[in-house]
Amino acid sequence: MYNIAFVGAPGSGKGTQAAAIARKLNILHIATGDLFRQAAGRGDELGNKVRSYLEKGELVPDDITIGLVKGQLAASGSKGAVLDGFPRNIRQAEALDEALDGQVLDRVVYIRVSEVELTRRLSRRRVCRECQATYMAGEGETAAPLCRRCGGRLERRADDGPETVRKRYAVYMAETTPLIGYYAARGKLAEVDGQGSIDEVNGRIMAALGRQETLT
Ligand code: AMP
Repeated sequence: MYNIAFVGAPGSGKGTQAAAIARKLNILHIATGDLFRQAAGRGDELGNKVRSYLEKGELVPDDITIGLVKGQLAASGSKGAVLDGFPRNIRQAEALDEALDGQVLDRVVYIRVSEVELTRRLSRRRVCRECQATYMAGEGETAAPLCRRCGGRLERRADDGPETVRKRYAVYMAETTPLIGYYAARGKLAEVDGQGSIDEVNGRIMAALGRQETLT
């Protein structure tokens, strides 16, 4: 049983790293952003409501978000989970303790990246519309690029435009950064430098989690 949460600004690499860690530890990867994008794509009443928050770069209301994560955790079985993008504020952190229902949140990985680097990464980010894998757009790219994993079409995320990115970063600073102190005070925080290659950051996270395996 191992429960980990990832905290980091938009573009910090938490999605990529959380997916890799979940594969390596063979535990469920719960990415609230991915789940919300899927819901928004369904176009039903809840999906339309969720989409309006995603488009503005605002947080989806806590009652919806907490309900979603509770459902996912209940289905996660006994092995634990990697939470990616949850909690994003103190209220969600408190709800998580309750949702874990006697299980423990073992570690919270905080990936630290400079604002300049975040902006650079988000402007180049492309996401597979089928499997959500993330790529960096190549310079001078012309033909529609396809996902190496599943062949799906790569797109720019609707909320990666400059204005929405500024809003998401402001929301992160106001709502999410208090979690860093919150988890540090509880002895759960593992702070990792998020600059460098995916493999370098992987190695730092595994070291911070006290694991020897290298991620491949
Ligand atoms: P992400 O893929 O983690 O960057 O999340 C994309 C968007 O999904 C965010 O800008 C929010 O609108 C929404 N979202 C993801 N996780 C949460 C959360 N824990 N609480 C509220 N909204 C969230």
